Amino acid sequence: MNCNHCAEPLEDGTLVCPYCATAQGPEQVQLVLPVNRVTSLVSMVSCYAVFFDARLIIAYSSPELEAADLERVRAECAAKGASPVKTNLAMMRRQANFYQRYESMRADEILPEDDRNGWLPYRQLARVEWQSAVVAPGSDDVPLVRREGELALFDAEGNEIRFIHFQPHQVAVKAVLERLFAFKLHYQR
Ligand SMILES: [Zn+2]
Repeated sequence: MNCNHCAEPLEDGTLVCPYCATAQGPEQVQLVLPVNRVTSLVSMVSCYAVFFDARLIIAYSSPELEAADLERVRAECAAKGASPVKTNLAMMRRQANFYQRYESMRADEILPEDDRNGWLPYRQLARVEWQSAVVAPGSDDVPLVRREGELALFDAEGNEIRFIHFQPHQVAVKAVLERLFAFKLHYQR
């Protein structure tokens, strides 16, 4: 386990963090965003930014993982005796909102799912820059992205991790980011 305040690694079952003296409860997911990680000037990899209380987990997916996840949804529906129509709807909903699965997962469940998955503690960050996406209603249910959003994380040495995201300005999202990053956050609508 990791401290839910300072993210230092702790022995399982630790009640109070020896580094920052914070009482330990289970780590909670505060926000999940589907993102594209900018890996160079010309390439991006799609992944998920899972914001826990004290650390960000970057989770990658694969067709195999998504197929297995859908199978799990199907099995859950079957166990509840859901009709085929309900089952299909549940599977379509999950497919369209795959990121939501992370909202109810623990860090130690997410991390081993893909070799590329990793995490970084917020206390190592010196600056967090956020620019909201601009999304307009498009046709049918497909929103029109007018401007992609950006999220950039900087450590004290100026090293940077940059993401493109599609999250428009939302008071609730801004509040979560402010809570997690406090004065390090530079938020632009
Ligand atoms: Zn701690």
